[in-house]
Amino acid sequence: MTEQTPVKDKAATAVTLPDAQTVTSVRHYTDRLFAFRCTRPQSLRFRSGEFVMIGLMGDNGRPLLRAYSIASPSWDEELEFYSIKVPDGPLTSKLQHVQPGDQIILRPKPVGTLVHDALLPGKRLWMFSTGTGFAPFASLLRDPETWEKYDEVVITHTCREVAELTYGREIVEALRDDELIGELVEGKLKYYPTTTREESPKMGRITTLIESGEVFADLGIPPLDPAVDRAMVCGSLAFNLDIKALLEKAGLREGANSDPAEFVVEKAFVGDGV
Ligand SMILES: Cc1cc2nc3c(=O)[nH]c(=O)nc-3n(C[C@H](O)[C@H](O)[C@H](O)COP(=O)(O)OP(=O)(O)OC[C@H]3O[C@@H](n4cnc5c(N)ncnc54)[C@H](O)[C@@H]3O)c2cc1C
Repeated sequence: MTEQTPVKDKAATAVTLPDAQTVTSVRHYTDRLFAFRCTRPQSLRFRSGEFVMIGLMGDNGRPLLRAYSIASPSWDEELEFYSIKVPDGPLTSKLQHVQPGDQIILRPKPVGTLVHDALLPGKRLWMFSTGTGFAPFASLLRDPETWEKYDEVVITHTCREVAELTYGREIVEALRDDELIGELVEGKLKYYPTTTREESPKMGRITTLIESGEVFADLGIPPLDPAVDRAMVCGSLAFNLDIKALLEKAGLREGANSDPAEFVVEKAFVGDGV
């Protein structure tokens, strides 16, 4: 039995919320994006790249939960989430106001396909993301396993505006100084941020840049090859379908936990993508 009566203040939430975790820090990036960290249940084990259900108690006294990729790596003592703020969104219209000390609900049942186990061994790993679809890669990029498994890792992140790239850019930049994986990352990481609306050094949808061959020319690497390349994809439904078609055209096959292959896909949200 997990449903509880609604609680109106912090003192009450501290003792009554089921699966409660305490928010430890919050950072706002834009009026549409924020990230927060919270305590991690001692019993929670997950594979970097997986998602869980998190949320808040709704006004009707029932938990209001949504799927969220865990953005922190599996070794981290805390959990991190990177979130959209949907103005009228049932959850995020409230979640965007959380403060350190507040409690959130976390169902400790991690699942997902953006995991190393769902890919066959390869030489180069592509991570294709739009918007908050960067979140599972924020986890995987900080996991030593990613760097032990691959000779090269390419992370692409496409957003409408430059400021929306900040969360991802800071994670990528911090990797090289990371005590745990700094040395492993050396010489293996290629970061490819693009914007679709605001002017930036590289503009355009990643799908267009793949089709034109521009991304390969820019990075100095050959076109996608199923013998070499593996891919993980996370963005809007439409983005995922477009990338999937391009990967399949190049001869890569979609994998799953039970049937590993050359690429895996997870949707970060349904509509209104980049
Ligand atoms: C497997 C999975 C993992 C997810 N991981 C994340 C995550 O790490 N971070 C995150 O912010 N969201 C993530 N989402 C989306 C999340 O579950 C919610 O939809 C989101 O938090 C908004 O909730 P809401 O109740 O405010 O609005 P909802 O009623 O859920 O959505 C309202 C509208 O906002 C759009 N929307 C929802 N989420 C996003 C988004 N992330 N970016 C752009 N538009 C969006 C929807 O398409 C919809 O049109 C994930 C979804 C799935 C299926």
